[in-house]
Amino acid sequence: MMDALLKHLVEITCHRDHALLDASVISALHELAGASQARVLELFKVRDDLLMRPRAWIEDGKVASIEDGAAEHPGMPLSNFPALVQCIAQRGASAEETTADGNHILWLPIWSNDKVGTCLEIVSPAPYSRQALPVIEGILSVYRNYQSLIDYSERDSLTGLYNRKTFDDQFSRIVSVAVPHECIDSENERRQDADIEAQWLAVVDIDHFKLVNDTFGHLYGDEVLILIANLLRSSFRAQDRIFRFGGEEFVVLLRATTLESAVNIFERFRSNVEEYEFPQVGRVTVSLGFVSINPSETPVVILGHADQALYHAKTNGRNQICHYDELVRTGVLRSEISNNMAEFFFDEPPAS
Ligand code: GH3
Ligand code: MG
Ligand code: MG
Repeated sequence: MMDALLKHLVEITCHRDHALLDASVISALHELAGASQARVLELFKVRDDLLMRPRAWIEDGKVASIEDGAAEHPGMPLSNFPALVQCIAQRGASAEETTADGNHILWLPIWSNDKVGTCLEIVSPAPYSRQALPVIEGILSVYRNYQSLIDYSERDSLTGLYNRKTFDDQFSRIVSVAVPHECIDSENERRQDADIEAQWLAVVDIDHFKLVNDTFGHLYGDEVLILIANLLRSSFRAQDRIFRFGGEEFVVLLRATTLESAVNIFERFRSNVEEYEFPQVGRVTVSLGFVSINPSETPVVILGHADQALYHAKTNGRNQICHYDELVRTGVLRSEISNNMAEFFFDEPPAS
């Protein structure tokens, strides 16, 4: 038991990534608690509905997760799980219930700043023994501490958005599970059917931000960055991902949607910023370049295309959104098949 516990603790604490941490915690609970099922569930709100969906679970004796490319789970109403609802309402650390078929469910909500975003669920055919409960509790504490440590390292401290490093980690994973959506027609031109769902990447840059700093000072500049981050969070959906890329540049990954709704969503964000009254500073605008994520292209190329569209928005009046594929289709930008070897090399020689 002790050996197995230590082995699992080492496994849990060697990860710097939420998905891998989830997987190792599930397999630890599965094995050490003698559970028939162990799941990491995420709790979220869509308008006024409280929902829950599995993020990782045991399948055929192995850990499976949404990162493996399974279709997005729409979420189950939290009200279907009264024992858990009651536990959360009482700010409890755990709740046990016995189902009609004699299984024992242990709910373990993970509290962070008075909120629950994650909950573990363990299902066992037998009641939890006096020896098992402290082990489960211990693993839970390690999990909780590690989650907040990873959260901290994944985020930018000024805005709370994901940082550049997290983008690099996540983007290649997202590209690798994305479904190809583009076809090349006889003229070798890019064509996209308007009703096909794709994933989208946008690069956002604040217009004339240097002027904000120069006129009002760096502290007001920082305040604008925080407010823009809030506008980003309120303009996109929970499934979309928002990153601060550095300075006054942000990247948004839009989950599956059509070109028409991607345009509407980006345009709505742009106008939300334009209409916002920034304290003292007044009006601020943003430019945005976006591209559909084509999984046959490398992340560097996809990002480069979004940047080209952003550059076009900047040089053509700012405060607008530009679509890379559209600029290529209309001949404004030339599509280049990248055979640029430089992208395979680091910027600096390795330290010797
Ligand atoms: P453009 O419309 O072409 O994007 O003009 P710009 O002035 O926004 O672009 P430029 O790249 O010349 O300037 C970006 C400025 O962003 C320079 C720098 O002072 C400011 N900046 C970068 N990071 C931060 C930050 O963390 N806080 C504050 N206050 N300013 C920052
Ligand atoms: Mg910039
Ligand atoms: Mg700028």
